[in-house]
Amino acid sequence: MHSSTLPAQNLGRRAHLRYGHGVIEFGLTGGIGSGKSTVAELLAARGAVLIDADAIVREVQAAGSPVLVLMAEALGAGIVLPDGTLDRAEVARIVFSDPAKLASLNAIVHPAVIDEMTRRRTVHNDTDATVLLDIPLLVESGYENLGAVIVVDIDPELAVSRLVQHRGFSADDVRARMKRQASREDRLARADFVIQNGGDLAALECRVDECWAWMCGQPRPEPGGPVVPIRSRGAN
Ligand code: ATP
Repeated sequence: MHSSTLPAQNLGRRAHLRYGHGVIEFGLTGGIGSGKSTVAELLAARGAVLIDADAIVREVQAAGSPVLVLMAEALGAGIVLPDGTLDRAEVARIVFSDPAKLASLNAIVHPAVIDEMTRRRTVHNDTDATVLLDIPLLVESGYENLGAVIVVDIDPELAVSRLVQHRGFSADDVRARMKRQASREDRLARADFVIQNGGDLAALECRVDECWAWMCGQPRPEPGGPVVPIRSRGAN
């Protein structure tokens, strides 16, 4: 039967249930405005199963969640808006100038995000899916045990101009955020594969094709192995 005649839910199972190969995982990261989300979508279109750390962060911090309660205890009730949702700008303001509060925030949020990510990774454990863990702060968080790491690399000033042009950021705001992120060099030092995003979108599609071919060529573990928890460097 031609695959286009199959219902969508069957296509997913057919795509990821071949015997003899285990699931394989890749981390994806890059600086602000580098094109991570664009690359994640392009890799998902080629067959990767996307697990989005930013989306998980927003979910674990939802109104009424245990994480939000702990955050309010650590940073003050002022971080919760009248409708019960998180005031992200207020959190950013508090931790920007207070490293101890930033450390408390990370100690609350990181384990919850890793737990939820592990739960989602476990779902694919008996498949041969190619899982892409999109983790913007992968390098800054010192995450290890991630399998191979893909870095989207761009001249920082090009990222500034794209975010100003397409997203309405001010250039100063982007540069201030960049200063709080890992350097381009530190990120590249973690890379097993680099996607250069200095060209147009057609060029990026070609780089993503090369990356997908590389991902598909990586040796896969035996099926059914344990999901290795992601560790934050320095943590147990
Ligand atoms: P953030 O760090 O804010 O989450 P990001 O790294 O996920 O950003 P994207 O949102 O994918 O980056 O890209 C930033 C902006 O640049 C978007 O508006 C996107 O459409 C645009 N963009 C990405 N790649 C290219 C490209 N090669 N050519 C032109 N525009 C691009």
